[in-house]
Amino acid sequence: MQTASQNIKNNCCFFSKTCTNNKRAAAIHVSNLLRNSTLPLLGAHMSVEGGLHKAFERITLVKGESLQIFSKNQRQWEVPPLRDSEIKQFKKAWEQWGQKHVAVHDSYLINLANSDAQKSNRAVGAFAEEINRAGLLTIPYLIMHPGSHVGAGIEQGLKQLTKNLDRAFEKAAEATAVMVLLETTAGQGTVLGSRFEELAYIISHSKYSDRLGVCYDTCHTFAAGYDISTKKGYSKTFSDFESIIGLDRLKFFHLNDSKKELGSRVDRHDHIGKGKIGLTGFRQLLNDPRFVAHPMVLETPKEKDLKEDIENLKLLRSLATKNKS
Ligand SMILES: [Zn+2]
Ligand SMILES: [Zn+2]
Repeated sequence: MQTASQNIKNNCCFFSKTCTNNKRAAAIHVSNLLRNSTLPLLGAHMSVEGGLHKAFERITLVKGESLQIFSKNQRQWEVPPLRDSEIKQFKKAWEQWGQKHVAVHDSYLINLANSDAQKSNRAVGAFAEEINRAGLLTIPYLIMHPGSHVGAGIEQGLKQLTKNLDRAFEKAAEATAVMVLLETTAGQGTVLGSRFEELAYIISHSKYSDRLGVCYDTCHTFAAGYDISTKKGYSKTFSDFESIIGLDRLKFFHLNDSKKELGSRVDRHDHIGKGKIGLTGFRQLLNDPRFVAHPMVLETPKEKDLKEDIENLKLLRSLATKNKS
């Protein structure tokens, strides 16, 4: 049995590196450790159709405790700036929902690893805009796909990505509270970020290392060859993560089962327990005391009534063992 204060003592170290410059994330983390539950904060990615604040209605409907959104149309380069009224409405809806984690996912169009100067410049501008928007909305985390080297090779791609990431941080100089989380990828084609070593390279070479963390996608990493479906594989995966990147960098999870096999390098999300990871894998993650107050969001297929999210969240909660709180 762990008390709330023990929880903070044992787990806050994962956030300590960034506690100082990401006070909002740290405050939310502490408040979540105090909520007297040892279950991670389960939630989902929600649509912002009808306005950014609408995402909170949707997450409330599925009883989610963490949320991910796009802060703009993810398939368009140009978007109008955020209006004051929009920001106000968003903050109000967030407050009503509670002291819970929200993250933004960046646009799918942005590839910071591209060596082409023109494409690079456009990506840097768009990514700086993503950081700024998250800053205006007071969202602590911006989750990004590390991008694709498009034939230049992994090393060159990582160098380019790190350089462009730093340029974007410089450009978005006012939004200093936003932390960027590099998402683990399946490694399809020339996509970067499928090996922990690649993420560690970016983190250690960036001038803004203290503002970088990792978002762990269960489907992507499984497709990349990290097997969390077995006890042995799970333990090896997170001990590798700890020694290569450090668990204090791990801030957020995407919970998706994988339609494709271990090491397939193909990114196809499946409903929890329906794919190749299976319930054993998710049970281990949900009962891992290291992730007791971490936000974990679903990115699984769903219809407008969000029935699938409700079912997936119910299933995930049922996997938590009863005797650990
Ligand atoms: Zn993801
Ligand atoms: Zn994916």
